[in-house]
Amino acid sequence: MESTEIVQQLDDIRRAALASISGSPDTASLEEARVAHLGRKSKLSKVSSSLREMSDADRRVVGKTVNEVRAAIEDAISSRLADLTSAERAGRLERERVDVTLPGRKPELGLPNPLTSVLDDVLDAFVGLGYRVVEGPEVETDYYNFQALNIPEDHPARSMWDTVYVQGETDELPLFRTHTSPMQVRMMEKEPPPVYVVVPGRVARRETPDAKHLASFMQIEGLAVDYGISMADLAGTLEAFAREVFGASQKVRLRPSYFPFTEPSAEVDVLCFNCGGSGCRSCGREGWIELLGAGMVHPNVFKAAGYPPDITGFAFGVGIERIAMARYGVEDIRWFYENDLEFLESFR
Ligand SMILES: [Zn+2]
Repeated sequence: MESTEIVQQLDDIRRAALASISGSPDTASLEEARVAHLGRKSKLSKVSSSLREMSDADRRVVGKTVNEVRAAIEDAISSRLADLTSAERAGRLERERVDVTLPGRKPELGLPNPLTSVLDDVLDAFVGLGYRVVEGPEVETDYYNFQALNIPEDHPARSMWDTVYVQGETDELPLFRTHTSPMQVRMMEKEPPPVYVVVPGRVARRETPDAKHLASFMQIEGLAVDYGISMADLAGTLEAFAREVFGASQKVRLRPSYFPFTEPSAEVDVLCFNCGGSGCRSCGREGWIELLGAGMVHPNVFKAAGYPPDITGFAFGVGIERIAMARYGVEDIRWFYENDLEFLESFR
């Protein structure tokens, strides 16, 4: 073959190669084109290996052209490769693009249990009246839970305050306290008068759970001890508390009652939350609902604490669940402890 003819052929090879390179739609087909036009079995390689059979003059001409064609094809491949790579990267970035206009996921905010809210409000009300918040042990001795509170061993009141007894290290069986009242004598043993404290905490009673009762619930005990305290102070304090927690139009009513550790003793009612006092089904047409027990501290309790005989004071005990039921119109006390999210969310 004439060298001019081979050069012409090389020109065809170059044109075909450049066309297939510029027509490669992606890097994979570009690689196929590279193998086809520069690989060992390519036409260019065949021409290249035939060089050694040519005359010196032909080899010079054809060899130069082979090198030019190879360089042109290599240049075309690397420039096409750069284009395809950046296009593919751009495409991938576009596919994987983060849509910053999408609304974010809001973290779920919790809320306090309704009992916690009520507890905080009641404590706030008494702190505002000058009381301190103190806490006592949940497992108590018979002495502080009963005897020091004027409930001796054979007292009939013990049957309504039966509780859980735990195995102790001494002969005396410790018990799950039936009220937070043991802190009355514990505080008075520790400090001289005056004493103004509220004592929140969990207590136990011998109850079969139903809509109104639980065997374990939260109580706040209040104790005010000073010289010259009267029943009027008790009534005024409870009315101030009721207005703070339930609203300015709230009223309290004291009815005679009995507790071993207070004398005189009273059940304290507040105006019905449903009818405001006119009488309805939830208050049994009374207009009032019972909220707590209270009274003047019994002289025997002061005696147990070692306080002087002319000291005076009042005490009261209120169940947090009962306040929460009244305030929110909750019909079943057990709902507070079932952790039903729908119920709890309704207080948001
Ligand atoms: Zn009512």
